[in-house]
Amino acid sequence: AKEQGRNTFRFYSENLTRKAFQNVLIDSALREAKSRNEFRLAFQPQIDIASNTFLGLEVLLRWHHPTLGTVSPAQFIPQAERTGLIQDIGHWVLEQACIAGCKWLAEGLPFGRLAVNVSAPQFRADDFVDQVQQVLAQTGFPPSRLELELTESVLVHDTDQLIDSMNELRGLGVQFAIDDFGTGYSSLSYLKKMPIDRLKLDKSFVDNINTDDSDRIIAGAVVALGQAMGLEVIAEGIEHEDQASALRDLGCTQFQGFLYGMPMYTSRIEAVLRKEAQR
Ligand code: C2E
Ligand code: CA
Ligand code: CA
Ligand code: CA
Repeated sequence: AKEQGRNTFRFYSENLTRKAFQNVLIDSALREAKSRNEFRLAFQPQIDIASNTFLGLEVLLRWHHPTLGTVSPAQFIPQAERTGLIQDIGHWVLEQACIAGCKWLAEGLPFGRLAVNVSAPQFRADDFVDQVQQVLAQTGFPPSRLELELTESVLVHDTDQLIDSMNELRGLGVQFAIDDFGTGYSSLSYLKKMPIDRLKLDKSFVDNINTDDSDRIIAGAVVALGQAMGLEVIAEGIEHEDQASALRDLGCTQFQGFLYGMPMYTSRIEAVLRKEAQR
């Protein structure tokens, strides 16, 4: 047991060192990524099975580095948040998304809304509302086509300033979704103070919805909460038909996941949207 303990420790510390080293590499590469055109946007369909239409597309950032390869946003976004680079990256994502959206509107492609992820430090920046307004004005993208996905970590500090910012954007027509709903630590009281349109039921409750009673109970409670409060509920991470059917039985009609479409780069999603337009 002692031997094993030592081995485990060695393995753990090597892992840590490698990870720390990799983080340093990523930090410096990330600083250059935008100017070197290493970022791209991917778009993943969100569908409404009641009307069988595209509700929207979630905008997901992709980073391909020449030597580090493809780095997952789950890895580089938290780092960009720590270093502050998220401000610049987040602005770029919003701008590029709106530019793409304008082009699709001009072509009559039925994408619904664009749902853009916004990090907590990004939303808390003093000039965030101005930034969004500026991008909307410069690109001409209609605010009513924009949805911002916030995690509960943004909402835990429910300051007046935060609520004012949300109300100002909501006044323009921008919508808000709560991402990863059910995984945060905050109280639910923010739901009555803030202009929220949609809850995104986290994938972790969807994965085992047919085998885990508590997951199904929680999913049902989120759907019921949404209905009671007049909020829409979209389930994310749907991979299998039996997950969709369990969620349908609970009253959920909005879905996102590999079952309905992978995140796709521009040319691919455009082809999907053109086909959808001809339907
Ligand atoms: P998220 O916002 O919860 O996004 C959903 C993630 O689940 C995406 O991973 C998506 O590709 C993946 N996904 C969607 N459907 C399925 C499915 O059926 N099965 C499985 N296994 N996965 C599915 P991705 O693109 O790797 O993004 C990871 C996280 O990185 C996102 O989680 C979000 O928190 C963050 N992120 C991505 N792009 C941006 C961005 O532009 N800005 C910010 N602030 N964060 C971003
Ligand atoms: Ca999201
Ligand atoms: Ca999510
Ligand atoms: Ca997530």
